[in-house]
Amino acid sequence: MIAEVIVDIASSETDRIFDYLCDEDIVVGSRVRAPFGNRTLPGFVMRIKESSDYPQEKLKKVLPSEDELPALNPECLALAEKISARYRVPKALSLRLFLPAEMRTGKVRELVKNYATLLMPTSEMKLLKTAKNQWGAAAYLEENGKTECAYLNNLFPGGVAALVKKGYAKITQEKLLRDPYKSVLANKQTRILTADQQRAVDTIERDKRTVQLLHGVTGSGKTEIYLTLIAKCLEKGKSSIFLVPEISLTPQMLSQLRARFGKNAAILHSGLSAGERFDEWWRLRTGEAKIAIGARSAIFAPLENLGVIIVDEEHDSSYSSESAPRYNTFDIALLRAKRNGCKLVLGSATPSVETYKKAQEGEFSLIRLDKRINRRPLPEIVIADMRREVRRGNNSSFSVALKEELEKCLLEDKQAILFLNRRGYSQTVICKECGYVAKCEACDVSLTYHREESCLKCHYCGQKYNMLSACPECGGVKLTYAGTGTQRIQAELQKLYPHARILRMDNDTTTGKEGHYKILKTFAEKQADILVGTQMIAKGHDFPEVTLVGILDADMSLHFSDYRSRERTFQLLTQVAGRCGRAEEPGKVVLQTFDPENEVLRFATAYDYEGFYDNEVSLRAAMAFPPFSKIVRVLVSGEDDKKCLEALRGVYVGLEQLYLDNQDKFLFFNKMRAPIKRIQNKFRYQILMRLSDTSVLPNIYAICAEEKTGDVLVSVEENPTNLS
Ligand code: ADP
Ligand code: ZN
Repeated sequence: MIAEVIVDIASSETDRIFDYLCDEDIVVGSRVRAPFGNRTLPGFVMRIKESSDYPQEKLKKVLPSEDELPALNPECLALAEKISARYRVPKALSLRLFLPAEMRTGKVRELVKNYATLLMPTSEMKLLKTAKNQWGAAAYLEENGKTECAYLNNLFPGGVAALVKKGYAKITQEKLLRDPYKSVLANKQTRILTADQQRAVDTIERDKRTVQLLHGVTGSGKTEIYLTLIAKCLEKGKSSIFLVPEISLTPQMLSQLRARFGKNAAILHSGLSAGERFDEWWRLRTGEAKIAIGARSAIFAPLENLGVIIVDEEHDSSYSSESAPRYNTFDIALLRAKRNGCKLVLGSATPSVETYKKAQEGEFSLIRLDKRINRRPLPEIVIADMRREVRRGNNSSFSVALKEELEKCLLEDKQAILFLNRRGYSQTVICKECGYVAKCEACDVSLTYHREESCLKCHYCGQKYNMLSACPECGGVKLTYAGTGTQRIQAELQKLYPHARILRMDNDTTTGKEGHYKILKTFAEKQADILVGTQMIAKGHDFPEVTLVGILDADMSLHFSDYRSRERTFQLLTQVAGRCGRAEEPGKVVLQTFDPENEVLRFATAYDYEGFYDNEVSLRAAMAFPPFSKIVRVLVSGEDDKKCLEALRGVYVGLEQLYLDNQDKFLFFNKMRAPIKRIQNKFRYQILMRLSDTSVLPNIYAICAEEKTGDVLVSVEENPTNLS
């Protein structure tokens, strides 16, 4: 038999199928070890055939792997091929998406433990009196039954081995699953669906369209709808995929899932150890677990017979991949849903403009939930005009209105969340004498002052620098710290309210596997009064005791030069506001801004998604921005500036020709420096395009694939979420 094999090297030169001889029992989708040059590399069997065009005697033979099942099912293989073709990446790279990294490197194995059991009573054993360890182990086993060898060896070194040799005991092996969430307490609550929730479930099941958009305000009970859909699939023996922006951010969701589905759920996310991810993945592959829960990459879960795919917070930018292949999770989800004949459910309180447009046009089904559970009111949002505060001499980070509400909240023993999307203590260090701004040596960005670690940090590469005592340019000592970050807010708050217990949640406080979990747990248990945080506090949390949300700088994300900045701001404000007033007590939101007339803020404070959408979509239409066009950025980057420029020239020549031949399909075409000229010592250049017709996309990918070298990265980004 001949196996067509993809060898696991991610380079375009080896990106083809190689024929190998193989044994009869090798099946499509299995991992093999393939002799390649003078090495043996991992590979995948893509197809099996009777004969090869190559002479038999020239073919080498692949060796099987130890997997009990082929690692990839036919659906995954087909998807990998589609991804390679669509995004022009080597097949090995697409195949890797479907496996946990630790499986490729082969460093992690199943956890197997040895257990000893006696084969006869000690009275029948012929042991020397002096063999203390053998006697000890035997006696222990007689009394306690089957015991782990490692434990016995600790107490009676060598004892078990000697007993086995004499035929008095035997050793058995047992596979052990590592349980990633032992510490997350199960929280069992099955609820009776409200009429609105039931109606949503019925519609999703009955409607013929594949994509179902669940547009429900924050607190409308979307999670319960997802769980019901998953449970129904499980009853029918079908599997489900449930995507959330970042699972480790929402321990409540996690414990709910564990309680409801137990071992049927496998949770895949970045916080797991390699061994845990390996075990969870295999539980899905063998069908022991039928529900895959995780962030973006869980869309590649090795499940068969899918009954539903759910994408929660579908507008979240984490659903587009930031490295090659830069796939869009929605596209993959749609392919899988169609192939399995199942529904793709998108949920959000603030759907992306692109998604909502399709729902309005009838391509997607649209289900609305415009009331919170139990008709609880959405929190009132009041605008605090920071210009007026400054005029009145208030230069602090907190408006009078916010301070009043905070005091009330503390007095009533409730909890508050304060949101500022900027970490560190202050954003920049500036010399008052000469205007020098401290910058990272490897990146073209200014450094952020971190007071707790007493250093300056680059938020792009993580490099730390010593504090400056004087300006390195002019020697001046008048350094100012501009732009407030979360550390400073925490410090200022503590000064204002010395007795308040304040927690902070941002990238600096959430390192480690359970970093998020610990902070959120402390807050949920009411061991803190105020939680200060970046956008990670905006997502999905359900804290019943929170009655106040303060948005410290609502304008921040408005000023990015990105066509999506208004949309992003609206989404963020709505999500943050949605964190309060979720239980009996009504909530209040104080939104601080220097631009109180701004229409985006107006729509957000009125919870007017429709109004925002209508306004936004007409702006986008007038400007021919997405979804009325597609923005494509080609980013050329590398450490050697000259080589970058050479590659840039190559790409530009190719693309310009494409542009000249297809001017009707282009709305915009230009070459320029990327806004951040250097990140992590890599120079960056970009070519920006806006397409009215995407039929030229494959050509763009092809041209860029040509110019890629080992030193220079040429990436194509479609509607990029980050244009820096
Ligand atoms: P969303 O995801 O839409 O923001 P959640 O799913 O978090 O909303 O639900 C909001 C709150 O309502 C949660 O505290 C949840 O436990 C509660 N809830 C949801 N469905 C029901 C129900 N059918 N009966 C009672 N409470 C419910
Ligand atoms: Zn840097």
